[in-house]
Order: sequence, then C-alpha cells, then structure tokens
Amino acid sequence: MKIVLLYGGRSAEHDVSILSAYSVLNAIYYDYYQVQLVFITKDGVWVKGPLLTEKPKNESVLNLTWDTKDATGEVISPSTIKEEDAVVFPLLHGPNGEDGTIQGFLETIDMPYIGAGVLTSACGMDKIMTKYILQAAGIPQVPYVPVLKNLWKENPKQIFEQCEGTLLYPMFIKPANMGSSVGISKAENREELQNALQEAYKYDTRAIVEQGIEAREIEVAILGNEDVRTTLAGEIVKDVAFYDYNSKYIDNQIVMQIPAEVTEDVQEKAQEFAKKAYIMLGGSGLSRCDFFLTNKNELFLNELNTMPGFTQYSMYPSLWEKMGLKYGDLIEELIQLALKRYKQRQ
Ligand code: ATP
Ligand code: MG
Ligand code: MG
Ligand code: MG
Repeated sequence: MKIVLLYGGRSAEHDVSILSAYSVLNAIYYDYYQVQLVFITKDGVWVKGPLLTEKPKNESVLNLTWDTKDATGEVISPSTIKEEDAVVFPLLHGPNGEDGTIQGFLETIDMPYIGAGVLTSACGMDKIMTKYILQAAGIPQVPYVPVLKNLWKENPKQIFEQCEGTLLYPMFIKPANMGSSVGISKAENREELQNALQEAYKYDTRAIVEQGIEAREIEVAILGNEDVRTTLAGEIVKDVAFYDYNSKYIDNQIVMQIPAEVTEDVQEKAQEFAKKAYIMLGGSGLSRCDFFLTNKNELFLNELNTMPGFTQYSMYPSLWEKMGLKYGDLIEELIQLALKRYKQRQ
C-alpha cells in the first residue's frame, strides 16, 4: 500500500509541517508501505517528490528549498495523486490544509485520508465556530468577542466598547483561522488592542478577542473515529509570558510534563471535556485538545487542533507514547482509522 504524504502547504505553518513530515518518514513501516512525497509550496504548487521504499537518509529528500528555479521534483496537478490502494496523510497545518479545504478535495477525488473530515476540520480551525459549538455543548471556555474585519473598519469605537464592556485587559487577540500562535498578540490597553487587531487581520478577516487569563496550559491527545480514546493530560511548562511561535519552534524553551502534575479530578475533567468536544465537532482520526488551568483548578477548553504538531517530540505523539503507543504504531493506527472511515462511507 502507498501513503501519499502531503506536506509544506500554503499557510504560515509551512515550516512546521516540514518538520512533522520528516519525523513521520523516519517512522513509517516500510515493510508495509511505500511513501509518495508530495510537497506543496508556499505558493500552492504541488511538487511530486521521490517514492520512498525505505527510511530517507537525510532531510534533503523533502526538497526543503524547492522553488521554480532549482526544482528537483515534478510539478503535478493535484488530482493526479489519485490511485488505488493509497491513503493520503495530509500533514498540513493551518489554513488550506487543516481547515477542510484539502479534506474536501480528497473527498472529491475519493481517496481515504488520515484525520478529521471536512466539517470538523473547518470548525476546529475557526476559533469563532469552535467557541459556538463548545458553548452549545456546555463546555467551559474563556469569555470572548468575535470581531469581523468589516465591522471593525466600519466602527472601531463600537468594537472597542464591546470588547471593553465584556472583557478585562489583558486580552488575547487572534486570527480565527491560524495555528502555531501566528498572528496572536496580548493587549494591555486600547492602543495595543487596536494594533493587535490589525496584526490578526493580516491572516484572516475573522478575528477573536479573548479574556486573557493567568493559567497553566495542559493538553489531551485524542485518537479514534466513533470509538474515542484519550490520553492523560500533559503540561506545557513555560517560563515565557505566552506560548508564541518563537517559544514553540525557535527557542526550545518549552518543557513538556507528561502526565501533568494536576489533581485526579482535573485529569478526569480534561479527558471528559476533550472527548465531548471531539464528539460534538464530529472528530475522526486525531486531535489535540488544549486547556487553560487556573490556580483555582478551573479548567477552560481553549481549542481542538485537528492536525497537531506531529514531530516525534511534539506533545501529541509524546502523550500517546506515555500511554504505551509508540510513534510508528500511532501512525499505523491513524492509517487504519482512515481506511475504516473510508470503507464505511462506500
Ligand atoms: P496551536 O494551534 O499551535 O496550539 P494557536 O495558534 O491555535 O496555537 P492558541 O493555542 O489559541 O493558538 O494560543 C496560543 C497561545 O497563546 C496559548 O498556548 C497561550 O500560551 C496563549 N493564549 C491564548 N489565548 C489565551 C488566553 N485567553 N489567555 C491567556 N493566554 C492565552
Ligand atoms: Mg490551534
Ligand atoms: Mg494548530
Ligand atoms: Mg493551542
């Protein structure tokens, strides 16, 4: 069987996807699978890389510097990835990858693929939609105000008043569709709120302003289709003010504590909320559910990432490793879940 590994992608999380892809390539069971690499450039060009039948010896196999000048792969039309006996691993983070667009394309060409379907991907990626769904499910989350760009342009004063009437400073301002903390800022006053909104609108016309809270951050890994399994929560231990892009990928200042040192009650609640959120969003395959935990042991669900960071050292695989599921076996499970869902739909 063939795994078609889609990586790179058009979003600001392009580089993160390349890191994840390299880890996955090294862990595939090549006795059972061949891997067809398909790199998506930042401009959205699809480039067919080599077909691997064994572990790559170095990272260059990923065409890290690919552009039209020094192309080593073949530019392809996306639909030509279609073949029998293949499953797609869309290892793409952020818009145009994790948000239902690629998933819709894969449904259209009728190929099985790893991870969430169209609806779950779209709703999980959009922080405003996620909030609405969790609210309907009665899952605790921090107070928020959705702020659409055109309403903000029309009447910024009204938006300020709405935010300040509902929330206290500091506030967190985020593009609705993004990940890896790209476009997120913390605002201590109105001027910073204004700048933060402008920053968020670079990435999306939909933004969300949230109540900033002092909290620990814990995460639960979820795996399954109808049969949903969760891990114990792990903690992102930070000595930085917030978990921004630099601290995630550049400075390596983050320590993961697995399992998190929290009460049994908090562990149970985190798993319960994660599972409920996953079911309400119609999850399949995998997700990583992020929470805030205050010093009063209040738990707020922050988000569900339907294609979480997937290097060997990322939180999602590490949580499963701790539960006894090795990285390679986790990938195998994901492939089987993809095939199962595909067969059920036939
Ligand atoms: P990813 O998908 O990589 O987990 P993201 O871009 O979807 O990240 P969030 O997880 O929502 O963004 O936020 C990024 C980080 O910003 C959080 O991990 C946390 O450190 C901080 N943060 C976000 N919202 C709040 C908030 N309301 N209060 C305090 N800190 C926050
Ligand atoms: Mg996210
Ligand atoms: Mg994400
Ligand atoms: Mg997060």
